[in-house]
Amino acid sequence: MVVEQGGHTRRDILKAALGGAAGIALAAPAGRLAAQAPTAVDSTTLRLSDDLFVIRHPGEANIVAHTSADGVLLVDGGSAPAADMVMQSVSKLPGGGSIHTLINTHWHPEQTGLNAQIGQAGKTIIAHENTRLWMATDVTWPWNGRRFTRLPKTAQPNKTFYTTGTLAPSTGTPSRRSLEGIRYGHIPDAAHTDGDLYVFFPAQNVIAVGDVVSGQGWPVVDWTTGGWIGGIAGGIQRLSTLVNEDTRIVPGRGPVLSVADLKAQYAMYSTLYDRLTQLLNKGRGPTEAVAARPAKEFEAQMGDPDEFVRRAFESLWAYLSPDA
Ligand SMILES: [Zn+2]
Repeated sequence: MVVEQGGHTRRDILKAALGGAAGIALAAPAGRLAAQAPTAVDSTTLRLSDDLFVIRHPGEANIVAHTSADGVLLVDGGSAPAADMVMQSVSKLPGGGSIHTLINTHWHPEQTGLNAQIGQAGKTIIAHENTRLWMATDVTWPWNGRRFTRLPKTAQPNKTFYTTGTLAPSTGTPSRRSLEGIRYGHIPDAAHTDGDLYVFFPAQNVIAVGDVVSGQGWPVVDWTTGGWIGGIAGGIQRLSTLVNEDTRIVPGRGPVLSVADLKAQYAMYSTLYDRLTQLLNKGRGPTEAVAARPAKEFEAQMGDPDEFVRRAFESLWAYLSPDA
């Protein structure tokens, strides 16, 4: 189930209507479509409130943008190749301005491609300290050989934390449309990486959670940098204690989710965690775990689970094997 979105600007409706599969289903009068040519047909901005938006470009991770008298706060910045597209979307945000702060939910390049530009401009880049450490070193995923090169110092987070933090409004900022109350925190369960964070916007009752929650298919279990199946279940459970029934949850990919979605995901991942743990305890390996089809009843909704199951099983080695 997807939470109803708030109002949309005319440009957003155009983009959604012309953006094909990646667009949002909205009823727009045909006359409007003919009257105005979109400037970027492949981009879409969702409005969650008058000062909070989700920028969605096809194939890119979600970006949350908050506008205030201070300018624009971004939660995640998209991939490096998308940087120009993202900056264009940011420049068109109603009530926007220049970016004052970028928050990285974790280190993956799908989320940190704007860091170089923001860092070079001398702006604030906030992340968990573990996230900064991963960006400061080379990483290789053993399962497919994918290599990630460390980012230059200017592109690395320049304001890190360990547990929680708040955004400080500049002095004299009007109370309306300010940064007041916006807070972020580490999700220490290592759902996706060991540096995952959430950002909570209390005035809008929205929480941005990066790839700790996937709204679109199976998540990546990046056990190289700490993620594991127990952490996926634990992280989702932790998030459900931070929200109320009306909170809208912006995942790293896919549509905005409801608390009911979160609960359904928790039930699924804790079931999978139990099944995979049982297989591990019986001395089975990843290939046998895949063959046992532990995600059978979720396949229709979630898609081919084999890679997820293999990675999730391997992630148990790191956390549960007695000799690990
Ligand atoms: Zn990720």
